[in-house]
Amino acid sequence: MNASAPHVIVVGSYNRDHVSRVDRFPKEGETRLGHGFSTGPGGKGFNQAVACHRQDAGTVFIGAIGNDALGTSAQEDARGESLTCRWQKLDDQPTASTAVWVDDTGRNCIVVSPGANAALAADFIRAKRDVFAGARMLLVQLETGLDAVGAAMELAREQGLIRVLNPAPAHPQLTWSLLREADLITPNETELAQLCGRFLDVDIDAGTLVSMSDATLHVLARRLLPEGTAVITLGANGCFVSHDEQHRRNDAASCYRMPAEPAKVVDTTGAGDCFCGALAAAMLRFEGRPFAEMVRHANRAAALSTERPGAAAAMPRYDEVIARFG
Ligand code: ADP
Repeated sequence: MNASAPHVIVVGSYNRDHVSRVDRFPKEGETRLGHGFSTGPGGKGFNQAVACHRQDAGTVFIGAIGNDALGTSAQEDARGESLTCRWQKLDDQPTASTAVWVDDTGRNCIVVSPGANAALAADFIRAKRDVFAGARMLLVQLETGLDAVGAAMELAREQGLIRVLNPAPAHPQLTWSLLREADLITPNETELAQLCGRFLDVDIDAGTLVSMSDATLHVLARRLLPEGTAVITLGANGCFVSHDEQHRRNDAASCYRMPAEPAKVVDTTGAGDCFCGALAAAMLRFEGRPFAEMVRHANRAAALSTERPGAAAAMPRYDEVIARFG
């Protein structure tokens, strides 16, 4: 597969992450010395595009950057990856950046400056009709403006693409109708709890979700997305899959759990992004096979990503997943 015949289009965010370690977080007005500074590409959209691309799916990323040094870094990151991108270049917005502090106990504080991501324009997406034509799948998240997400979903529907929505991060303006445009959603526990609160008026503590019965999770997923598939990621507990009874994607069961793969965890940043990108790639590579095989592959890729530091940089290649898990 190659990117000149894209199979997966990822529309989403690019962020430059800046990570400092610090013995303890500074108090208001205080300056502290950090150590172990690192910087690297991130952003849910870019992470998922890199994950998908490294799983050998022809991938095109569409996102926005500013006319600044971080925008240049973004383009270099993509070139280093041989990832095809369509950048909206904005003169009046900075490239998005994230400041992360990690203290000696492993806790973190994060400030995200969305800049260009929030300004990704629906018109810019609509003008990419040529990219959508002939592609197989769209993968979107909620770290850009929702107009851009909506435009991408609409264009993908017109062109008959499979539409995958990772409803992350939880977005207060997401509408139920936009969620239901998706063929497949991939919320984590926090996002699922938030969706249930907003759209179903069901109050759920995200921390207790993993201990709910399969039947309960299935009912919630069916109510949220009656005609699609929901894959709820459960961190170290793997994930839960719920299909519409009429569209089981070659699975024997309409709902089931898949445990996480064993991993020597170093850094779980981007594990959910790895899962989404690898699942999109696996849905095309293993087309016609049971969906559970695709989910198993995504679980394996995501487990491997937790063994490496960083976000986009931690995404494993297809051969690495096979070498480790067969
Ligand atoms: P997010 O990063 O969006 O919060 P999760 O924490 O649910 O997402 O993790 C996504 C996926 O990453 C999980 O479904 C699982 O496949 C994998 N994963 C996460 N944490 C671990 C872990 N400790 N061990 C193995 N796999 C993990």
